Amino acid sequence: MIDFHCHLDLFPEPEKAVAAAEKSGHYVLSVTTTPKAFAKTAYLARKSKRIRTALGLHPQIAHERKSELPLFDRLISETDYVGEVGLDGGPEYRKHYADQLIVFDHILATCQKVGGRVLSIHSRHAASDVLDALARHPGAGTAILHWFTGTTAELNRAIDSGCWFSVGRPMTKSKKGRSHIAGIPQNRILTETDAPFGGSTDGGYADTELCAAVNGLSSIWDMTIAETQSILAKNLRMLRRVRENV
Ligand code: MN
Repeated sequence: MIDFHCHLDLFPEPEKAVAAAEKSGHYVLSVTTTPKAFAKTAYLARKSKRIRTALGLHPQIAHERKSELPLFDRLISETDYVGEVGLDGGPEYRKHYADQLIVFDHILATCQKVGGRVLSIHSRHAASDVLDALARHPGAGTAILHWFTGTTAELNRAIDSGCWFSVGRPMTKSKKGRSHIAGIPQNRILTETDAPFGGSTDGGYADTELCAAVNGLSSIWDMTIAETQSILAKNLRMLRRVRENV
C-alpha cells in the first residue's frame, strides 16, 4: 500500500516504525517538520527502496523555525520531495500567519528555482491562500494537498490548478471528505496515514489506518479493493515517472 504522508521520525520508536513499514512493503513518503530533522530522518530510511524522505518546515512552527530556511535551500538538491509545508489558518496559529506566508513563499520559490518538487501540503483553514501561493510559483512542482478540508469551491479550484490529494481514513469517514473524494479525478489520489497523528497506531506503525483508507476509497469508487489498489499503484508510478524519471 501507499502512505504518502507519514511522520516516521515522530514515532516514539522511529527505527521500529521504519522496520514495520518496510516489512509491510509499503511505499512511504516520510515527511519532516523542520529542515534540521531531514538528515537523521533520511538516515532512518537509508536501506529502504520504498521510503522517500521529504524536506519540510511545518506551518505550525514556521515562526520558530524560519531561521532554518537557508538550511532548507542547501538541502533541496538532496531530495525530490518537499513536505510537510503549507499554511494553517486555524485560530491557534493565526497570530503567526505572516511568518507562515513568508516561509511558504520562500519554499515555493526555492522549489521553482530547482525545477520543481513533489510537495506534500498542509492547508487547514487556509486552502485559498495555499492555492494563491501556488499560483504565484507556477514552477514549484506537483502539489499534493494532504487531508484536504477546504470548501467545495476551493476543492474545484485545486483540481483545476492541477493539484493531487492524499487521503486518509478520517477523510473517507466524514460526509464532507467522502463528497470531496467523489469529486477528485481518480488519477490524482494517493492514500496517507499522517501517523503517528490522527489514528489508532498504539505507538507503532500499523497497517490498519491504510487498510481503512483503501477500503473507504473502494466504497466511494464502487470498486473492489484490488481495483482500488491498482489505481493507487498506477498513480504513484505516474507521479514518480514525472518527478524521479523512473
Ligand atoms: Mn502531517
